[in-house]
Amino acid sequence: MEHTRDLYGDRLRAVGLAVAGTVRDNHLTQATTLGWAQVDLSPLVAGTALPLLAGNDATLSGVAEARTGAAAGAGTALHLIVEVGIGGTLIVDGIPAAGSTGAGGEYGHMPFGDRALHCPCGARGCWDLEVDGRALARRLGEPEPDDPYAYAETVLQRQDKEASGAVATVAAALGSGIAGLVNAHDPDVVTLGGLAIPLRAAAHMSFDEAYREGLMAFHRAEPPPILDSAHQKDGALRGAAALGLDHITTDAAIATWADPHS
Ligand SMILES: [Zn+2]
Repeated sequence: MEHTRDLYGDRLRAVGLAVAGTVRDNHLTQATTLGWAQVDLSPLVAGTALPLLAGNDATLSGVAEARTGAAAGAGTALHLIVEVGIGGTLIVDGIPAAGSTGAGGEYGHMPFGDRALHCPCGARGCWDLEVDGRALARRLGEPEPDDPYAYAETVLQRQDKEASGAVATVAAALGSGIAGLVNAHDPDVVTLGGLAIPLRAAAHMSFDEAYREGLMAFHRAEPPPILDSAHQKDGALRGAAALGLDHITTDAAIATWADPHS
């Protein structure tokens, strides 16, 4: 940050930040998979008058998809990304529906899963626990992996029957949950990121069947398409940049920028 300030000086007008956790009023409120809670992000702009525009990384990658990616042109887009657990956002006319404090879109913590399972977030039965490497390990009777993302990638490479069965079950949990969200939000399009892409590809039939079965009847004739993301791992960065540009190109912001005394 200091290096960037040295480089650009007064030309800096805002700081965008993608955070791998729940963001609320510029605090990282809860990063379940990291075990972090209540981290004040404002020291990043301490000593400056720069606004800090912090957002959840899944939300920001959804912004990128809706602005310049696979959901470009859609009025209402649902974006879901599986890494460790599942994150996402609903984007309406290019803007994330992030709730009253910015913490909305925690789709992974809806009780779409087994209520016997405790989620590190504090709730029970979270969808998070059904769609990632932890879910695959559980289906395969193996201990919870230290790195669920890398573990999932390994299982997705396997060709044996046990692995295929676990992948099919987990892909179905993903498809079924997406159907629930389509029923709730009625999006024009759904975009997938992270492990959701290879997971669906590896068990397309199980995913599609669960998706269709979970849809209300009126959605089935023409269900919203589910597309792979156009942006890769830089999606969150692109989304943060897009919201930063929004912030500095309002009429008021441009007037302030044009005033050399501001
Ligand atoms: Zn949870």
